[in-house]
Amino acid sequence: MTTKTMTANGTTQHASMFEAVLARLDVAAKIYGLSPEASLILRSPEKQVRVSLPIVMDNGKVEVFDGYRTVHSTVLGPSKGGIRYAMDVNSDEVNALSAWMSFKCAVANLPYGGAKGGIKCDPKKMSAGELERLTKAYAAAMSDVFGVNKDIPAPDMGTGKKEMAWLLTEYNKITGEHAPGVVTGKPITLGGSRGREAATGRGVMIATLEAMKKTGMNRKSATAAVQGFGNVGSHAVRLLASKEIKIVGISDHTAAFWNEKGFDVEAALRYVQNNNGVLKGFTGGTEISNDELLCGKADVLVPAAIQNVITAEIANKIQAKLIIEGANGPTTAEADKILHDKGIVVVPDILANGGGVTVSYFEWVQNKSGHYWSEDEVNARHDASMEKAFENVWYNAQQYKTSMRLGAYISALKKLEKGIRYRGNY
Ligand code: NAD
Repeated sequence: MTTKTMTANGTTQHASMFEAVLARLDVAAKIYGLSPEASLILRSPEKQVRVSLPIVMDNGKVEVFDGYRTVHSTVLGPSKGGIRYAMDVNSDEVNALSAWMSFKCAVANLPYGGAKGGIKCDPKKMSAGELERLTKAYAAAMSDVFGVNKDIPAPDMGTGKKEMAWLLTEYNKITGEHAPGVVTGKPITLGGSRGREAATGRGVMIATLEAMKKTGMNRKSATAAVQGFGNVGSHAVRLLASKEIKIVGISDHTAAFWNEKGFDVEAALRYVQNNNGVLKGFTGGTEISNDELLCGKADVLVPAAIQNVITAEIANKIQAKLIIEGANGPTTAEADKILHDKGIVVVPDILANGGGVTVSYFEWVQNKSGHYWSEDEVNARHDASMEKAFENVWYNAQQYKTSMRLGAYISALKKLEKGIRYRGNY
């Protein structure tokens, strides 16, 4: 059953995030002419696992956490997808994100299916010991789901290389073998890849440069605002600035700032490093609200924080000409239509933030071969791969006379449909 509500401007809004993904899939499927069989298969995640994780907290009391993992598709290879620690993690969100991973891996031309996982928790309120126990309990509970050639987790919001190292350790302990390729986004000492940490931000930079070329925007006179200053946002800010794009807006969940002369990006990065990872108190610009940042006068807007921040109301006020989706699902379906009608080019999440999973794939390949690459080699392969994916999505958008988002879905559907057809059915 689909749950929809009508908004003030007459568009429909989906109560479920997974339903919103399916609604977009349906639109792309219709334009492309996807077979009903493939559509039916892609509408249902292959596997959904929910676990309860009892953890002894530092105060000696037991708390029970909800953990999730959804494998959406393994048609094109073992499933791949991050693990998110946040209070709003739930099965609907994990299902939606897992489907996006299937499409993202197909768009990036990787031999992977899609998955996603998460734990409903607030990592900022937990000690390192509590987080280690929780992560290892999750790895144990999911040890049947994960596998080097089965399902390969990675970091997402609220997790990073530390959590991936714990996951790897527990999984290796249970299986009794050293299999570094079961997790990507690991520390380099444990088999991680050079270039992985900055990869999603690097992909955002490549997507921005490619979109600028296609739309005739001069990067040397262009300005950009970036929402989010975590893994994706901070590297995107640094790398865009390294290409002489002037950064005029930065923000995180604690504060947002504007500086039309352009931020001293290195100073902002240093400030956050020495200020518990947050921008609050930064004095390099004028403090504004996060909504003002999204609607500010910049040529490029990079939402790189959380989902659903570009609503219909915000979309009506957006001044940027290009939106590069660093975050997963930052734009609602209603906003999408408004942006399209306004002629704003949106480089969708399943293309724009594919740099992370691309270098995760390189990490997995390096783990399997036991031969490790230099950072320059990783970056060169990443850039070539992102450029190729961008070109392919652009081509599909042009060929089907549609948006880049639907062009990206079509590019994924073509591969997934072919895979489904070759595999056959029961
Ligand atoms: P992160 O936890 O490192 O950083 C998130 C950032 O968003 C932080 O700076 C936080 O303060 C900010 N933020 C949170 N709520 C906010 C709000 N309401 N307003 C403004 N800022 C807010 O997470 P990340 O890894 O950078 O992921 C960000 C997004 O990118 C997520 O949607 C994630 O799924 C997506 N993504 C991440 C990767 C990756 O490799 N890390 C890959 C693909 C997609």
